[in-house]
Amino acid sequence: MEYCTVTEQTCDLAIIGGGPGGYVGAIRAAQLGMSVVCIDRNSSLGGTCLREGCIPSKVMLESSEKYAEARTQLADHGVLVRDVQLDLPALHQRRKKIVQTLAVGVAALLKQNGVTVLQGQGRLDGPGSVRVAGPSGEQAIRAARVLIATGSLPAPLKGVELDGDRIGTSTQALAFPEVPQHLVVIGAGYIGLEMGCVWHRLGARVTMLEALDRILPGMDQELARAAQAVFEKQGLEFRLNTRVRRAAVDGGRCVVECEGAEPITCDRVLLAVGRVPNTGDIGLDSVGIQTDGRGEIPVADDFQTRAENVFAIGDCVRGPKLAHKASHEAIACVERIVTGHGHVNYDTIPGVVYTHPEIAGVGKTEEELRASGREYRKGEFPFQASGRARTLGETNGRVKILADLHTDRILGVHIFGPRAGDLIAEAVAAMEFGASAEDLARICHAHPTLAESLGEAALAVAGRAIHMARQAAGSRR
Ligand code: NAD
Repeated sequence: MEYCTVTEQTCDLAIIGGGPGGYVGAIRAAQLGMSVVCIDRNSSLGGTCLREGCIPSKVMLESSEKYAEARTQLADHGVLVRDVQLDLPALHQRRKKIVQTLAVGVAALLKQNGVTVLQGQGRLDGPGSVRVAGPSGEQAIRAARVLIATGSLPAPLKGVELDGDRIGTSTQALAFPEVPQHLVVIGAGYIGLEMGCVWHRLGARVTMLEALDRILPGMDQELARAAQAVFEKQGLEFRLNTRVRRAAVDGGRCVVECEGAEPITCDRVLLAVGRVPNTGDIGLDSVGIQTDGRGEIPVADDFQTRAENVFAIGDCVRGPKLAHKASHEAIACVERIVTGHGHVNYDTIPGVVYTHPEIAGVGKTEEELRASGREYRKGEFPFQASGRARTLGETNGRVKILADLHTDRILGVHIFGPRAGDLIAEAVAAMEFGASAEDLARICHAHPTLAESLGEAALAVAGRAIHMARQAAGSRR
């Protein structure tokens, strides 16, 4: 595209990318008195998270869960619902409306904070300069500092031919126009499991293909295995140790070829094998920045790149690719620029998989503790023994707390069970304040709540959970 208009403006901070990293950083920088320009190639802000990630997938998860509940679970509660039907267009409409409403909210917040928003592809153009190629022309920006918050893109897989329809990424899987008969998901990670669950609940046969011998690499292995067993009972099919070699559309059907197994024929394929940094077309060369082998921009603790006054945060730098991690890094980065202080505690960033039940974790997993040789005690409490979980009819799963053997400091908390994504917040707060398992055990939890299970698991670390058979002190490792 050719643009002829060239205008120039100056600012204290130009942010490339308006996702949960970029727009949050823009608001915080404006609060601190900086003049800020936030650039995004999309006409609505919020990034992948809001447009085609966290938010729309949660809409689909919530709606599909209600459908599944009405069909199969309400009778247990004595609620008889006959002739339950799915109105998929209405479901999609609701998803779009929620995304649109939130995007309008983000735009309003930036406006209220005096942030200038520019639509267009932002590229670094030498020190202190950013060019924005947008629908209304090209603009040059002189910026005292630049923050790169360009996020990530779905990782491709050699041999898998994405056609943007039958074989697609999470973007397509959010908006299938009809329920697939048979959906094959490549990768049993965050995205694969969430979207696999959505379409299975809505009526699809779902086959999950995973290269490793386990699902959800990075999450606590014991709980991941327990979760897999529950998802299998729900009807999801898992093929572990299955590496996909090729996927293509052939005569209107998709054919997926795996190492050492018969090809699978299905009507849709979701590729979800991770995400790669979006750092390819943003002018990094012009300021002397080179990405590492993974395409990530190397940064120091203060998010400074090797180019002076150019910073980077979120999915395009090291660390987990999570929206809340990006937001926190953006805030820490601009606070550090303006006040000299600002940091992110990488030991307390929670991860949540919004399946049903949910899986959530913060801090070290047992595998990590074993590998590091750190001695720890483990306390567990099953939701089966929780009164509140019984009333909800949600007794699958458990809470696991890992504490240092010598100091009792909490090192990790992992939850598989109802509302795990909300429950983990208490563990994050406790760990942020350096709590011991004893501290958590002595907190008064309201009865009857799911949160009591955290208190009981903390008691179990010392072998004195109340609502469990007599225990030895949390097993010593
Ligand atoms: P992921 O890293 O979570 O999982 C990818 C999976 O694909 C892994 O289990 C991997 O072993 C498997 N895989 C890789 N190559 C394969 C092959 N050839 N054949 C079969 N399996 C293969 O990645 P994702 O699910 O694509 O998610 C991407 C990122 O988005 C994640 O890093 C996650 O942090 C983020 N995300 C977060 C949430 C959330 O917070 N709830 C939701 C969605 C995505």
